[in-house]
Amino acid sequence: MYSVRYNLQPAKPAPRQCGECVACCQALRIDSPQLQKQSGVLCPNCTGKGCGIYEQRPQVCREWLCTWMRAPEIPEDFRPDLLGVMFSYEAQSASANPFERRYFVGRYLRDPSTVDLAKVEQVIDYLARASVHVPVWLSKDGEMRLVHPRKPLADLIFQGDTASADAVAWRNALS
Ligand code: SF4
Ligand code: SF4
Repeated sequence: MYSVRYNLQPAKPAPRQCGECVACCQALRIDSPQLQKQSGVLCPNCTGKGCGIYEQRPQVCREWLCTWMRAPEIPEDFRPDLLGVMFSYEAQSASANPFERRYFVGRYLRDPSTVDLAKVEQVIDYLARASVHVPVWLSKDGEMRLVHPRKPLADLIFQGDTASADAVAWRNALS
């Protein structure tokens, strides 16, 4: 099975093309020497259909790929702008919360009521199978909700439960 678990570096070549999606050029906060912008603000270099300075785009843009770009197993029509949710792999190694050290996050790009949530669940299921012990979050306007592992198991992991083999395996993987 294809694993996106440690696929932090861009695939060379990327298995897909962005097409007319510019979701990451709007949704992400960028703070690099070459480019700074807030999340939710379309990059000034974006034409609305792609990057206007593609050949000269900053290194941070060259290295970043969403999960849809990295994982051809995710259906073609789940491209972030079409799905309404953009999934990516992120890491904050210093986080006190073990579920926030390395994880997938799906950022809603529009109101969840306009999103096909069954498709979003399909992506979450795929990530949970491909990278069993990597948490998955959903984020709306900066508010994060853990969706893998589900709450009952997450509680056991936090409580230090030793009777559940799943909880023990998760704690080992997160430590
Ligand atoms: S969100 Fe993914 S598909 Fe869309 S522009 Fe960014 S890298 Fe390309
Ligand atoms: S420089 Fe280009 S690739 Fe980078 S955020 Fe702006 S439009 Fe997107």
